[in-house]
Amino acid sequence: MKISEIFKKQKRTYSFEFFPPSDYLTAVKFGINAGQLMKLSPSFVSITYGAGGCTQTNTFDLVDLFHNDLGFTCMAHYTCVNATKEKIAYDMRVLQDMGIENLMLLRGDKPKNEPLLSPNPDGFNYASDLIKFVKEQYDFCIGAGAYPEKHIEAPSMEKDIENLKIKVDAGAEFLITQMFFNNKYYWEFVNKVEQEGIKCRVIPGIIPITNYKQIKRFAEMTGATFPFSYLKRFEPHKDKPKEVAKIGLELALEQATDLLENDAPGIHFYTLNRCMAAIKLYESLSQDFKDVKKLYEKSLSPHIPSP
Ligand code: FAD
Repeated sequence: MKISEIFKKQKRTYSFEFFPPSDYLTAVKFGINAGQLMKLSPSFVSITYGAGGCTQTNTFDLVDLFHNDLGFTCMAHYTCVNATKEKIAYDMRVLQDMGIENLMLLRGDKPKNEPLLSPNPDGFNYASDLIKFVKEQYDFCIGAGAYPEKHIEAPSMEKDIENLKIKVDAGAEFLITQMFFNNKYYWEFVNKVEQEGIKCRVIPGIIPITNYKQIKRFAEMTGATFPFSYLKRFEPHKDKPKEVAKIGLELALEQATDLLENDAPGIHFYTLNRCMAAIKLYESLSQDFKDVKKLYEKSLSPHIPSP
């Protein structure tokens, strides 16, 4: 099902993002977590592409498994960095033939071993170009990335939002945000997006912190402000993983509850493959937020995994 169709039935969506596991043991743990997730009937799941060192082929394999074998509504992430138009066209046909209906189309980041992101004469330099190309030739529902604290390379928030409008005008039907920890940034951003005339859902992306040092590093890389109040909570416990996970869950629950109470259109959980933290967070959210989802569940046949 297209995510745009799900929006017609659900005021709020709850989605979970994964990346392809890199080794045997993490794949086993991942499978167990995916089984737990099935019980929650998320609105959709999404699989990252080429991020965190995973191979792009693994993304397609996992998307195929989630969509065709496990019966989830699945969104495949796809980036155009270093890809030729020919490769992109080929990959789109592969995803289309697999039955995938939803894509998160992104530019991607420069490869680690290259000093600068060089212009691509045979491909695209921005997500908006990729979105336009795919929209003109294929029938996917397309999502794009959005940055409540602006994209790290953008000269200003105003310029970044102008560029965001180009992405939506090119065919993006919804936006999912980069992680943020202070909801003030999200609401200010949503206001600016509306003022720019962008009319689509801006789904907040939330990370339940399970690994303090890793998230602090991610925050620095993406330009997300790590609040002083978080530092104060985590620092005394930074070498105690269980305590960190407990605090991470409490903070994410406060953040998600506040977003939903103020009418955010759902939550996109960045699981970092530590799915149990996201599942606990989802389960801890008040039932009030989930009513729409329950109604929707009734209209769907249950997921029946293939043998
Ligand atoms: P763009 O929208 O192209 O923007 C990149 C920069 O260029 C911005 O500063 C923007 O202001 C500027 N810009 C855009 N258009 C123009 C224009 N026409 N002229 C001048 N400047 C312009 N990365 C992965 O590798 N794999 C993933 O699976 C993945 N999933 C993600 C999911 C989400 C929800 C998000 C928010 C990010 C994800 N990323 C992923 C990270 C993403 O690839 C990086 O943030 C990347 O640096 C930017 O991608 P983008 O699609 O937002 O780029």
